[in-house]
This record gives sequence, C-alpha cells and structure tokens, in this order.
Amino acid sequence: MAVENLQSPATPVEIAQRVTGLRAEIAATSSPLRLGKAAPVLVAVTKHVPEDAIRAALAAGQRVFGENRVQEAHAKWPALRQDFADVELHLIGPLQTNKVKQALALFDVIETLDRGKLAEALAREIAQNATRPPRLFVQVNTGEEAQKGGVAPADIDAFLALCRDRLGLGIEGLMCLPPADEEPALHFALLHEAARRNGLLGLSMGMSADYETALAFGASHVRIGTNIFGRRRTEGL
Ligand SMILES: *Cc1c(COP(=O)(O)O)cnc(C)c1O
Repeated sequence: MAVENLQSPATPVEIAQRVTGLRAEIAATSSPLRLGKAAPVLVAVTKHVPEDAIRAALAAGQRVFGENRVQEAHAKWPALRQDFADVELHLIGPLQTNKVKQALALFDVIETLDRGKLAEALAREIAQNATRPPRLFVQVNTGEEAQKGGVAPADIDAFLALCRDRLGLGIEGLMCLPPADEEPALHFALLHEAARRNGLLGLSMGMSADYETALAFGASHVRIGTNIFGRRRTEGL
C-alpha cells in the first residue's frame, strides 16, 4: 500500500483510512508458508502515539495494539480499555523482571520473552498469584546483534524446552526484529523454519518497511506503526 505523508503525525482521517486499507490488504494475502489457519493479524504499534490518534484507530475498528514500554502503556491504556473492553494489547519491547507483575496486569500478549530469568519470573508470578497466563512469543535475535534482546538462533530449541517443559509456559510463537541494514527475508525465513520445527503457529514479524515480505514468509502478526500513525512525535525516546 502506498502511504503518503509519513513525515508528520497522521490526521484522524488518514489513520482511519490506513487502518482500513492495511487490514484489507493483509486479509487479501495468502502464503503457502503460513503455519496456522488464522488470517494474519495487524498489530497497530502505538509507542509515542498520543491518545487522540489511538482513538482514531479504535474508531476505525482496530483492536489489536502494541506498545514497547510498560510505563507508557500503563499511562495510556487503562483509560482506553474502559471504553473498548475488547482491546488486545501486546508488549513488543524489553521487559525487566521487576516489571513482570505490572506487565501481566496490562498486557494480553508478551512478545518479548527473551531470556531464562524472565521466563522464570513470569512462571513464578503466574503460579503465585494465579494470574491469567499471558499469551507468549519468544523473541529471537536473528541478527545476533549485541544491542538487541532475544534468544540466539542456535539456542531456540533449548529455550523453548525450558519454557514449555520445565516452567510450564505455553508458547504461541516466535518474534523477531531484523537488523535495519540487512535483507529481512533471510531473517523471516530463519524464524519461520524455527517455528515450524518446534510446532509453533505464531510468527510475529514485519514492520512498516517490510511487512509485505513478512506476510510472504507466513507471518501471523505484523507490527505496524509509522504506516498508520505517521512519524512518531517524540521519536528517539
Ligand atoms: C516501533 C516498533 C514497530 C513498528 O515499527 P514501524 O516501522 O513504525 O512500523 C514494530 N515492532 C517493534 C518491536 C517496534 O519497536
């Protein structure tokens, strides 16, 4: 989909048009690499996006959203959820173990399970407080970048065994964030193969610049911010 005016925040009308357009586009895609039967899901990424813009997306029928910081989500979403009880909120940024309790209260899906300590903290919190278990994706550092979180590709199978067998965590899928300067298809292919090998149906991959490629590689969730909301007002925070 051609999107214009990405350099500034989008107007409510633009947001509604883009959400509608993207949902239609995603629904119309098919891929032989898709692992589950469900159609891919658009996760509208609202980090640094103000409430009025989020409300424009909600008014257009969008219900699945992603935030990358617990604190920011806590400031924005409880009020929005009062008006839209069927919202599904995904955490797509790093989670510190001391924020696990707050994250479980806020998010339906945690896409950034990226290390053993976090898996243990999640399992402990779920068991101790009989918290409704979140849906979980394991983040894979497909480019093995030092500054990024995620399990190394070579460790995926062992990490999944730890989560599933030893800690009793249900894992829905894998998530990745390819290096900015590399061909994303190679990373999507790696993630797809690891999910298939481990019997997982979820593949969260693809952002504004590369979601079409991700869909071709069987993405179950694409996480799109800029192509809906325009450039974030406080980029770089
Ligand atoms: C910001 C962000 C996105 C969305 O990126 P856009 O390029 O704005 O679509 C997707 N995934 C993660 C993990 C992000 O932090």
